[in-house]
Amino acid sequence: KENSTKENNAAKIKVVVRKRPLNKKELARKEDDIVTVNDNALTVHEPRLKVDLTAYIEKHEFCFDAVLDERVTNDEVYRVTVEPIIPTIFQRTKATCFAYGQTGSGKTFTMQPLPLRAAEDLVRLLHQPVYRNQRFKLWLSFFEIYGGKLFDLLSERKKLCMREDGRQQVCIVGLQEFEVSDVQIVKEFIEKGNAARSTGSTGANEESSRSHAILQLAVKKHSEVKDSRRNSDVNDYRSGKVVGKISFIDLAGSERGADTTDNDRQTRIEGAEINKSLLALKECIRALDNDQIHIPFRGSKLTEVLRDSFVGNSRTVMVSCISPNAGSCEHTLNTLRYADRVK
Ligand code: ADP
Ligand code: MG
Repeated sequence: KENSTKENNAAKIKVVVRKRPLNKKELARKEDDIVTVNDNALTVHEPRLKVDLTAYIEKHEFCFDAVLDERVTNDEVYRVTVEPIIPTIFQRTKATCFAYGQTGSGKTFTMQPLPLRAAEDLVRLLHQPVYRNQRFKLWLSFFEIYGGKLFDLLSERKKLCMREDGRQQVCIVGLQEFEVSDVQIVKEFIEKGNAARSTGSTGANEESSRSHAILQLAVKKHSEVKDSRRNSDVNDYRSGKVVGKISFIDLAGSERGADTTDNDRQTRIEGAEINKSLLALKECIRALDNDQIHIPFRGSKLTEVLRDSFVGNSRTVMVSCISPNAGSCEHTLNTLRYADRVK
């Protein structure tokens, strides 16, 4: 009994680690690559000093559903993480794919191409004979959670609020959704949304590392009867019912959750919010994994927004991104321990 449950869960939650190559700066500094990958296991070789200051290496071994080394392409990442879930979207599945890791570990690099590939596959499936007569359409939205507040990335960063209806469905009031029937449009929306992410004055990566970006692709079923109160072609289809959806979440830099003792008050508040949301996310995934009835989604804005993806038919893929350089060792171990708790 226990085994079969565990097998179901293994399919429900997948934890993948991706290691990026050493970058130019790290190579110039002659930093060591301290991460070795062997199938679905990896070892971190942590440089340490004894009390008498002699150097030694402490090895930390981890095992995940998949470990992708620095030679793995984004196409392969897609094949391992998202591709297997795509057909389930048509069977009422709500899926989420997270990129977790410290700033600079490759979250955005990993996450950006995934919705494009997913849209390509979803659009192709929509046109298959089995689905052709079902009036399925694909919808896209893209928003950000920054300091516990929601902003529409496809609508001049308009501030949004969240509401729950009586049937525990999450509704983000005013969030713009766009029907996407071809992949070129999806590409343009992704670029537009990414350009709109919090950039502040200190430079792009610095600020965007404090926000969670959420891109959703929803398959909706549309009724034959057109809504006569509306006359625009676009609005005629708004009333479609969500069949299934997939959310791509480029999480805030995991190290930002530790910004809780920073001198700057705003940074401290944001750090506390990030810390809360990453902890709540871990708790929700663990609850899902244990088939718990009660999912503690109220722990943060992030998990509240994802509430409907944590109940019913849900699938979760966590892509934990790690940097290979010795200087990132502590963050890398933190990321792997987080992933290990989720697995
Ligand atoms: P994050 O979003 O986690 O802060 P980025 O995705 O912005 O990190 O990646 C940091 C830098 O490393 C970028 O310049 C990116 O192009 C590069 N990079 C990340 N992962 C890889 C990879 N697997 N292969 C090659 N370059 C990568
Ligand atoms: Mg990023």
